[in-house]
Amino acid sequence: MLTHNLGYPRIGSRRQLKKACEAYWKEKISLHDLLKAGADIRLQNWKLQQEAGIDMIPSNDFSFYDQVLDMSLTVGAIPERYHDIVTDQKRPELDLYFAMARGYQNNGLDIIAMEMTKWFDTNYHYIVPEFKKDQKFKLFSSKILDEFKEAKRLGIQTKPVIIGPISYLLLGKEKETGFHRISLLQNLLPVYLEILKKLENSGATWVQIDEPYLAMDLSKEEKEAFLSTYKEIKRACPNIKILLASYFGNLGDNLPIASALPVCALHIDLVRAPEQLEEVLQSIPKNMSLSLGLVDGRNIWKNDFEGSLALLEKAQKAKETERLLIGPSCSLLHSPCDLEEESNETALTPEIKNWLAFAKQKVEEISNLRKLAIDQENKANLDILSENKAAIQSKAEAQIIHKAKVKLAVELLSPEHSQRKNIFSERQKLQEENLKLPLFPTTTIGSFPQTKEVRQWRANLKKGVLTQNQYNELIKKETKAAIEWQEAIGLDVLVHGEFERNDMVEYFGEKLEGFVFTQNGWVQSYGSRCVKPPIIYGDVSRPRAMTKYWTSFAQSLTNKNVKGMLTGPVTILQWSFVRNDQARSVTCQQIALAIREEVNDLESAGIKIIQIDEPALREGLPLRLSHWDAYLKWAVDCFRIASSGVKDETQIHTHMCYSEFNDIIQHIAAMDADVITIECSRSQMELLDAFAEFQYPNEIGPGVYDIHSPRIPTEDEMVQLMNKAKAVIKDRQLWVNPDCGLKTRGWEETKEALIRMVKAAQSLRDNATLNTSSFSTKVLNNLG
Ligand code: GLN
Ligand code: ZN
Repeated sequence: MLTHNLGYPRIGSRRQLKKACEAYWKEKISLHDLLKAGADIRLQNWKLQQEAGIDMIPSNDFSFYDQVLDMSLTVGAIPERYHDIVTDQKRPELDLYFAMARGYQNNGLDIIAMEMTKWFDTNYHYIVPEFKKDQKFKLFSSKILDEFKEAKRLGIQTKPVIIGPISYLLLGKEKETGFHRISLLQNLLPVYLEILKKLENSGATWVQIDEPYLAMDLSKEEKEAFLSTYKEIKRACPNIKILLASYFGNLGDNLPIASALPVCALHIDLVRAPEQLEEVLQSIPKNMSLSLGLVDGRNIWKNDFEGSLALLEKAQKAKETERLLIGPSCSLLHSPCDLEEESNETALTPEIKNWLAFAKQKVEEISNLRKLAIDQENKANLDILSENKAAIQSKAEAQIIHKAKVKLAVELLSPEHSQRKNIFSERQKLQEENLKLPLFPTTTIGSFPQTKEVRQWRANLKKGVLTQNQYNELIKKETKAAIEWQEAIGLDVLVHGEFERNDMVEYFGEKLEGFVFTQNGWVQSYGSRCVKPPIIYGDVSRPRAMTKYWTSFAQSLTNKNVKGMLTGPVTILQWSFVRNDQARSVTCQQIALAIREEVNDLESAGIKIIQIDEPALREGLPLRLSHWDAYLKWAVDCFRIASSGVKDETQIHTHMCYSEFNDIIQHIAAMDADVITIECSRSQMELLDAFAEFQYPNEIGPGVYDIHSPRIPTEDEMVQLMNKAKAVIKDRQLWVNPDCGLKTRGWEETKEALIRMVKAAQSLRDNATLNTSSFSTKVLNNLG
């Protein structure tokens, strides 16, 4: 029984890679220094896995930016716009690589970056390969070989990790019409064969090929592509041992394919999909080894050895022990590096710390699981097992986790909790009377620029340089200025500006019970950007009001309506490490109840409009289409639990910042928010087609300008965009607002853009009154 790892985090336990890359980009360190920083991290990672007793240690799991971009460079899929950089012999390969990742403005060149998107259902983002119809591939970068040889020189025989050819193509995007990227397989495969042969010649025995698409819905052609591709690989490289890795879900209907492939070993994710074990054991051939993904690569909880050993035992009954491998469920890329870095932690009590395992600890768990599977009589092994049992037990029974009151509240949830008192059309009338807003009301999404000063105040509060009182006074001044300014330019629905918030999830997590924060639990989000997700360890409750103070303060400064601003339950769940001892839906219901209390508190404090942001609703969608409905049902219900405790007169807004709604539009409508503000400007209002076709019943604020860019749109552009919206949605339903929150923008451009936006709304109103009699002609004119 071998132990192996699918990938180790490459940011370094103190985010060394982030620091080195950013310094290199600013030309503060040399290429040599950057390469050295990379080599140091690789060495450290290899060493610690070796010391932990991992038999097959991965290489090529390191990346200076992203593993998919690495693959694009390896197979020479370099979009034409970078060719000036390719041919410039003086520039190192790494500069081309970073240019593809980040864009390039230098030497008179201005080249935009490649697109980035989420890696399956994780919070990691990869760089999307771009393909043309006649796309050629050739072995361009030798990174895979270099890293294998580098480890070899250090005396470590590694198992190179490569993204499989089918998943690589499916991860990409066609940049021309008239072909499907899977048709490029013929061109791509020879490069893969060349890499494998070179690896073999350099002494590689095992190679891990990742095909995460095996856990996704595949078309008939894609399924066939798997069969032909792996046959071809076997024919060309009969001596390389391929470990084919699936993860993030059940193989499901792809199991017959996976078990028919001529590979030496198959890896399955038994954390996400433990139920697949039996079926897999029945279906894979005798001579195919099975790698059991037992240790959760995507969460921070200690492995439950008893549970894992039960799965192992099942596998041992069906398969010879030599044909079994133990590993993490997926690459440890999605875990923080090392719990030992948390030694100065104040928030993580020893009790909670004893429930956790980060990447380094997970590698040790893998090794311990093998020891336990092989020899449970051994005294040292027995100690390991009982220590683990004690930790699991302590978590199961901990007072700080289990709150009877919270559990009872969830049990007592009934359909009424998810139901506003009346239907939208009734509420709309009451809200119009209550709020007295003009046609095309203007608002913003919540945050205003978080300037250096504001961030400095927060840092100083943390350090104790500022007292809480001093900090509050500063935030008050900033909020007051924002309110006065919004009034002055004539916005209709004001916001307090969110100056007191660090991050839209962290802010609430810190105020809710059941959450804990680490000091060093960083996980790569993309490139050099890392996030530190909160940990939801216990039943969630709200000990006291969270936003009432600042919202009421802002409302006290103006006669206009200030919109209360909350993060929704699904988003809080989605951007945290979630407890694994109950269904995610239940944890989400607990958060929803806490947010509901906050919504009700705001209403009692006289706030008439409350926004509950759910930017992460879509990214929670399961990988398989057949699981979507179940997810959407509870996710939408949780939003409704949070938002339905208010009077009909109180207006509930939600906000989402993405533009794909077509496939989930009926669920968005089922959220029954009175107003939804969405991203629209980058897609030139195209997404409104979905809302129009569906006849979305409630009100919509289609973002009229892109807050991701410092560019200030003209009044006319915004009017034009709104006219497009007006052509498909009734005037009475429309709001005017930016795409998203403004916290990353500077004040100067924000002010100018919003002044123009208010003017645009005014001109829409002027036109509407002029044209009330000839409304339909107006729409036709706009369409023309
Ligand atoms: N209210 C939040 C803000 O304005 C929303 C952020 C988001 O959509 N991601 O910053
Ligand atoms: Zn947004």
